[in-house]
Amino acid sequence: MSKFRLPLREDLIGQDPYGAPQDRVVARLNVNENPFAPSQELRQALAAAVMESSAEINRYPDRDAEQLRGALSNYIVREAGITVAWEQIWVANGSNEVMSHVMSAFGGPGRVALTFAPTYSMYPDYARDSFTNLITIERTADFTIDVGGACEAIVANRPSLVLVASPNNPTGTETPLDALRALAECAEHNNALLVVDEAYAEFRRDKESTAIRLLHQFPNIIVTRTMSKAFGFAGARVGYCLASSPAIINALMLVRLPYHLSAITQAVAIAALSMTGELANQVENLRSERDALVQDLLDLNIQVVPSDANFILFGQFPSRHDVWQALLDRGVLIRETGPEGWLRVSIGTPEENKLFIESMRNIMNLNPIL
Ligand SMILES: *Cc1c(COP(=O)(O)O)cnc(C)c1O
Repeated sequence: MSKFRLPLREDLIGQDPYGAPQDRVVARLNVNENPFAPSQELRQALAAAVMESSAEINRYPDRDAEQLRGALSNYIVREAGITVAWEQIWVANGSNEVMSHVMSAFGGPGRVALTFAPTYSMYPDYARDSFTNLITIERTADFTIDVGGACEAIVANRPSLVLVASPNNPTGTETPLDALRALAECAEHNNALLVVDEAYAEFRRDKESTAIRLLHQFPNIIVTRTMSKAFGFAGARVGYCLASSPAIINALMLVRLPYHLSAITQAVAIAALSMTGELANQVENLRSERDALVQDLLDLNIQVVPSDANFILFGQFPSRHDVWQALLDRGVLIRETGPEGWLRVSIGTPEENKLFIESMRNIMNLNPIL
């Protein structure tokens, strides 16, 4: 018998990989995707882009993805009404990869990142993988951030990175621009970057509150965004960030893998960014479906956290797992995540939302004490 033992890093022993279920159920409402499939027209444009870019597939892609960063700059002018130069934009395989670049360049051994829980479940993983010490401050009872307390924690812990997801996952809570401004100022005085994860930006109720507005006012802001959620492009893996200065982007380029973003990915992303018309309708639909679903849950006497995202955190159930399972038995897959007793449901198509809420009504009628 071989005595070989896998020389796995000590800190990875016994850990599980990220793994939201990908079951084929009737209503998949567990990972906050855009539920609408792309139109035939968009698919044809994507196919044409693949055809064209494949003519040079024997060559490495544009390392710096300059054309795509230009297309993202144009998109931000249209979506947020703010001009951000392409040199202030970085793009990678999902905003998860962007965030891992941020952690590698600005975190690292002996360094601290600060965040506000409950929040995105991947932050501890990015910290672990970059050997950054992650310090977690609890949000208040309504899942907002106590800015005074946050600044004290910044002064006490001297982080190089302060991470705020806004709208936050899994709570849907937005951090108002005034609070972000105060955090940015406190971070600036303590030599930290403020990273605002805006994966759900397009769904917020107040469109004016994006942290992109702060890029020109502070030297220390990174706003991450993604094409995975509102944009309906989760399968293509494209995320990006916008930063106060090109110097921040240059730092990220130090730690990316060579040719990290494939020519195919760059080409289809550029094609999709030139056809954002159908997207606007879908986002409007999802926002109004969300608001209607919030009301339907409240009508069932269920607590709901106000949501600026394409999902809703609701509860609190003495046994949330039983509710989760009862929904799955009815063909509805949601996410068992967040603080004890709460569940998270993504906004789906009108039919999926109807199946979800009718299942909930049925479950609560059968067993009101769940
Ligand atoms: C979904 C999500 C992301 C996006 O991940 P991608 O890698 O871009 O698909 C980032 N941040 C948060 C908080 C999310 O919920």
